[in-house]
Amino acid sequence: MSDSRKTGLVLLPEQAEHDTGDHPENGRRIPAVLEHLRQAPEWSRLALLESRRARPEDIIRVHTPEHFELIESRSAAGPSWIDGDTPVSTGSFEVALRAAGGALVGIDSLLGDSASRPDSLFALIRPPGHHATPGRAMGFCLFNNAAIAARYAQECHGVERVAILDWDVHHGNGTQDAFWDDPSVMVVSLHQWPLYPGTGWLVETGAGEGEGTTVNLPMPPGCGDREYLEAMVAVVEPTLEAFDPGLLIVSAGQDGHVADPLSDEAITAAGYNRLAARSASLARRLGIGLLAVHEGGYNLATLPGLDRAILAGFGDYPAELDEPEAGRARLSGSDPGWDERRREIVAAQRPYRQLG
Ligand SMILES: [Zn+2]
Repeated sequence: MSDSRKTGLVLLPEQAEHDTGDHPENGRRIPAVLEHLRQAPEWSRLALLESRRARPEDIIRVHTPEHFELIESRSAAGPSWIDGDTPVSTGSFEVALRAAGGALVGIDSLLGDSASRPDSLFALIRPPGHHATPGRAMGFCLFNNAAIAARYAQECHGVERVAILDWDVHHGNGTQDAFWDDPSVMVVSLHQWPLYPGTGWLVETGAGEGEGTTVNLPMPPGCGDREYLEAMVAVVEPTLEAFDPGLLIVSAGQDGHVADPLSDEAITAAGYNRLAARSASLARRLGIGLLAVHEGGYNLATLPGLDRAILAGFGDYPAELDEPEAGRARLSGSDPGWDERRREIVAAQRPYRQLG
C-alpha cells in the first residue's frame, strides 16, 4: 500500500541526570517531546531503540583525552559551569556518554544488515553536541555527538565518506573544527548569521586536503521556510549529492523556529517538515541511511510539534503540523536580504563547485 520510509527514535532514559536547573537546555525538553509523540496516532509506527554508553575510545576519536578527563572530573566534582553558558552536574558525564552512545546505536542500526533496518533514526539526546570542539566544551555542549557518530561509522563500519548537515540555528563550530582539514567528512551548516558563536561565515571552507568540504550558509536574520528550502535545493542538496557520502548525519536543532527564544529566524513546523523530507529523499536517492541527532530547540511549547513534524518528514507519512499561535508571532513579509546572500553563497562556493 504505502512505501513510506521506515523511521524511529533512539531514546535516552534518565537524561535529566544531566541537571542544568532552569537553563534553556534542561531536562524537561526531551520528556515534553516524548509525551507529545506518545499521544500522536503515528507513535505505533516508529521504531524504538535505546541508547547505550559510548566507550572512551569512541569519544577520543574526536576529542582530546584531556577534554574527556576534564568532563569526567568536573562532573564528579559536582555542579559548576564550564563556561558562561555550559553547566555540568554530577550526572553530566554519564548522560553525555550515553547521549553519544545513542548516536552510535543509531549508526549500528542504520548500517546493520537486518531486513528490518530503518531508513532513518532520530536520536532524542541531550546535552547537544555541535558546539563542542575537540578540546573544548561550550554552548551547552560537552561531547560532539554528530562528530563522534561520523568517526564511528568510518572506523567501525568502514564508511568512507560521511556528510553532516547541521540545520541548528547556531553555527556548528565544533563539528567544523573536528573535520576542518579532513576531506572524508563534509560539514554543511545552515545557521543564522550573525549569532552565537560568531563563526560560520562564507570564507570558512576548510583547509589543506579538507579545503572545500566545509560549507557554510550564513542565513540573514528573519529568514524562514522559503529561504531555508531554497538554500536546500540550490546549494545543500547538489553539494551533498556530488560528495556522494555513505551516510548522512543531520544535526537537528529546531531553534530557528519562529517562536524560539534564542534566534531571529522564522522557520515554521511546515518548514521543518520539508527540511526533513528533503533530507530523507536525498538519502534515499543516494541509497544511504540518515541519522538525526537532537541539538537545540528551546521553546517547550513548540519543540514537541517540531520534532513530530521532522519525524513525519523522515518517514514520509502525513501528520498534523502543530503550529501554536505563538509560532506565527514573528512571521512577516519583510525581506531579510536573502536573494543577495544566496548569490554570495554561490560565489563563495565557485572554487569548489558550480551551483545554480
Ligand atoms: Zn542552536
